[in-house]
Amino acid sequence: MSNLFLRTLREDPADAEVPSHKLLVRGGFVRRAAPGIYTWLPLGKMVLDNVARIVHEEMAAIGGQEVLLPALLPKEFYEASGRWEEYGDTLFRLKDRKGADYLLGPTHEELFTLLVKGEYSSYKDFPVVLYQIQEKFRDEARPRAGVLRGREFHMKDSYSFDIDDEGLQASYEAHRAAYVRIFDRLGLEYVIVSATSGAMGGSASEEFLAVAPNGEDTFVRSTESDYAANVEAVAVPVPPALPVEGLPEAVVHHTPGTATIQTLVDFLNEAGTGRVYSEADTLKNLLVKTRAPGAEDWELLAIGLPGDRDVDLKRLEAALEPTEVALLDEADFAANPFLAKGYIGPRALLDNKVRYLVDPRVVTGTVWVTGADKTDHHVIDLVAGRDFTPDGTIDVAVVRDGDPSPDGHGTLYTARGIEIGHIFQLGRKYTDTFQVDALGADGKPKRVTMGSYGVGVSRAVACVVEQSHDDKGIVWPRAIAPADVHVVGTGKGEQIEEALRIGAELEARGLRVLVDDRKGVSPGVKFTDAELLGIPTGVIIGRGLKDGLVELRDRATGDREEVALTEIVDRTVAACRG
Ligand code: ATP
Ligand code: MG
Repeated sequence: MSNLFLRTLREDPADAEVPSHKLLVRGGFVRRAAPGIYTWLPLGKMVLDNVARIVHEEMAAIGGQEVLLPALLPKEFYEASGRWEEYGDTLFRLKDRKGADYLLGPTHEELFTLLVKGEYSSYKDFPVVLYQIQEKFRDEARPRAGVLRGREFHMKDSYSFDIDDEGLQASYEAHRAAYVRIFDRLGLEYVIVSATSGAMGGSASEEFLAVAPNGEDTFVRSTESDYAANVEAVAVPVPPALPVEGLPEAVVHHTPGTATIQTLVDFLNEAGTGRVYSEADTLKNLLVKTRAPGAEDWELLAIGLPGDRDVDLKRLEAALEPTEVALLDEADFAANPFLAKGYIGPRALLDNKVRYLVDPRVVTGTVWVTGADKTDHHVIDLVAGRDFTPDGTIDVAVVRDGDPSPDGHGTLYTARGIEIGHIFQLGRKYTDTFQVDALGADGKPKRVTMGSYGVGVSRAVACVVEQSHDDKGIVWPRAIAPADVHVVGTGKGEQIEEALRIGAELEARGLRVLVDDRKGVSPGVKFTDAELLGIPTGVIIGRGLKDGLVELRDRATGDREEVALTEIVDRTVAACRG
């Protein structure tokens, strides 16, 4: 440490909000060069390399072959795929001296597709998995949280190429298993969530989320099982239909001033019907408008859901994608006078051919209070499947803590996470664009199918810190720590000489060692730095040396033990290998 390029800081950087950002800067692992752009200092680079090594090993284990593609790319390939436009402001675009357009790669599907097209042409060549660990560039709208969301960051991106769907499935499963091993080895607590709703193709895309209260991604998990899903992908369990026989007739009532659910419930309960109503007994009908891709006109869509639930716009967008969706404005209501605002019911919707989809909980035999399509009027005892038949169901209501878990075990609660990996069955999107065919066994050309898979290598470093720190500093898991042992020599001469000697012995035994051999630095400062740097095992050589005693420390548990000098090397090796 006397010549290590390291300066630790006592103060949190002014722009830092989350623990990983604060601690990685204070510990001298990274330095901010510009917004969202970071320099990795020696200790940080060691951690980054350790993460990369684990990724390399697990990619090799599934037959991945490492390549390195350029980051500076001509516009034409991204124009062909449509992503030059689609990426919007997130893409870093630039010009060369001749005025030609270039970009800095945000991810490399186009280039990998063209690479394979250039080299391979027979079914015998496939499957192949190619990958790289490379700097990616994205002009993120909110570069925050240090290396968690950078504008330049390190990503492992791999791409599988297969001749048929079964092959793609196998490549996908192999990646999924490799990712499980990678994130297990990194010591991360994470969940795997399906990224898209079932309608979009089920498990065709899954995200690995590191569980962290500061995460930008919300997901739900079960209290009792390992069920976890993006809110967009939750499928509400459908209750069984109920018999309609013997249910009372639907009757329209005058319910003045009850345009909101709360006023309606209060009115019903004050009316003295002998029954206690709650919001969940009402059927709320929300109107939106949708526009299919390429279509010019907007169409009305009505969504019926229990009055105690709201529509989750993110879920709605995901359920309708790629169709656009927007809320109605006054002009829309004016153009459709049959919509009695606050009193919309299924009758007018169905009579006027408005597409009417209901929450999956609105099954046949359920009884509702809902709008009677006339201001100040509601209909009571309206029975689904008897008095109205919707056009189908749509599962877009807000998912609440306490809802039953779709797998039947426990209830759901909301948690936050940070995306550390993403696996994606792309299919033939890019091979269609670039016409990548392989000659099949029958002599006929077959279109190649693809998967793409990303790991946020630099982000993973920050995620580990998010999950593994205390108020004193970082607690590195050994697998990626910058060293196994931090040998601290306090005092002036003798203890420091001894620290260097023990350090050399430990190194000879195969451990990675950092020795604090700084002179003129107080023991207090050295201990504070050691806790901040977070190396798993510490050996302290202090005053006890004259009695042949040194201290063995465990950063994670805080345990401290006096150990005889003669035993310290063996004991340290055991602690590190244990
Ligand atoms: P996010 O939703 O967090 O912006 P993304 O879905 O855009 O991520 P992908 O395109 O799936 O990201 O990229 C693969 C991986 O790269 C992500 O799972 C994430 O771990 C990492 N990553 C993406 N953007 C960044 C960034 N700005 N900084 C650091 N790592 C990133
Ligand atoms: Mg992603």
